[in-house]
Amino acid sequence: MPGFELFGDQERKQVNDVLESGVLMRYGFDGMRNGHWKAVELEDAISKRMEVKHTQLVSSGTSALTVALASAGIGAGDEVIMPTFTFVASFESIIALGAVPVLVDIDNTLTLDPKKVKEAITDKTKVVMPVHMCGSMADLKALSLICKEHNLLLLEDACQAIGGSFDGKPLGSYGDLGCFSFDYVKTITCGEGGAIITNNEDYKINSDHYSDHGHDHIGKDRGAETHPFLGYNYRISELNAAVGLAQIARLDEFIDIQKKNYAILRNAIENIPGVEMRSVPDGGVENYSFLSFFMPDEVTARTTQKELVNNGVDGCFYWFDNNWHYIKKWDHLKDLKTLGKLPQEVVIGLPDYHMQDFKQSDHWLGRNISILIKLSWTEEEVKQRAEKMNEVLENILETAK
Ligand SMILES: *Cc1c(COP(=O)(O)O)cnc(C)c1O
Repeated sequence: MPGFELFGDQERKQVNDVLESGVLMRYGFDGMRNGHWKAVELEDAISKRMEVKHTQLVSSGTSALTVALASAGIGAGDEVIMPTFTFVASFESIIALGAVPVLVDIDNTLTLDPKKVKEAITDKTKVVMPVHMCGSMADLKALSLICKEHNLLLLEDACQAIGGSFDGKPLGSYGDLGCFSFDYVKTITCGEGGAIITNNEDYKINSDHYSDHGHDHIGKDRGAETHPFLGYNYRISELNAAVGLAQIARLDEFIDIQKKNYAILRNAIENIPGVEMRSVPDGGVENYSFLSFFMPDEVTARTTQKELVNNGVDGCFYWFDNNWHYIKKWDHLKDLKTLGKLPQEVVIGLPDYHMQDFKQSDHWLGRNISILIKLSWTEEEVKQRAEKMNEVLENILETAK
């Protein structure tokens, strides 16, 4: 998955443009910047590739989620539906605004179960936030129907699935708002950075202002700009944007490599009796950053992960026990461990996540194994890996009989 694996001259050239002028900020200093506007160029490149009208760059994927929610007017006490399997950024970004993260089970897509989403809707619900984990997507059609019926926003967290699509639309562009991360381990990286995409002009204007202290960005004198509302600083720097500009140009090349490697590994295991592949919703095309499958039960899945690693298949994840990605280990959320006091709306609104039952999520994630697809593997390495995976899985499932 990570863009850092293929990194070199193009990235260096873009960064040098910025270093030569010394203008590291995305706004202002027009006369000094030798005509370089890396953040603006990257926003245009993302809008073009993602087939949307607007892109707003920010400092991270986490801030993209926060700014996206803020741009749509989400605030204290509003409920945002999110999955139990995701990255901690999902609830962090919601709580940052005083809104309430409502966790909902995943299904065999490893993303939000639309049936469970429906059950979780209350009169406080404002947003459904599917997270396209590990390169594949939520059932966006089902979710968007639910959102239309209940007048909710659909915000796609596409941080792990950039370059995938649903119903012919790039992931992130199907909902009202979509978010990407360009942190160091994502499919394309710029060190640290993120983006919000949308076709809604108001959200674009709001996110543009909100991510830069509420500045209206009208005119050429930053000091004279007005502030239509309160904001914060979620700006990206020109240096980061420059790297991103080189990487976005290579997105499709990266996806092609991932697809090729993924296909070889998938071929080697998908027909082994007892192996069940992750379900991809009809109309979905993955970005192939992970190959995910289910073993018959939790015990077998744990053994499989250990055996794969013992046999040299690295980058093999058992998310069920992972500290970052699953509710089971989010004690800081369950115990509401914060430095200062939380807004009352959050304290009162948040369900007691010690008590809540996520059996359905446990059922799927407890049996899941995800293999990271690398860009830097040689064909020979992928083939050897495929053979090893086949051998290990056949052995385990044979002895499990
Ligand atoms: C990486 C990630 C984020 C946050 O991105 P950062 O740029 O690291 O803040 C959010 N959601 C998901 C699903 C991610 O994988």
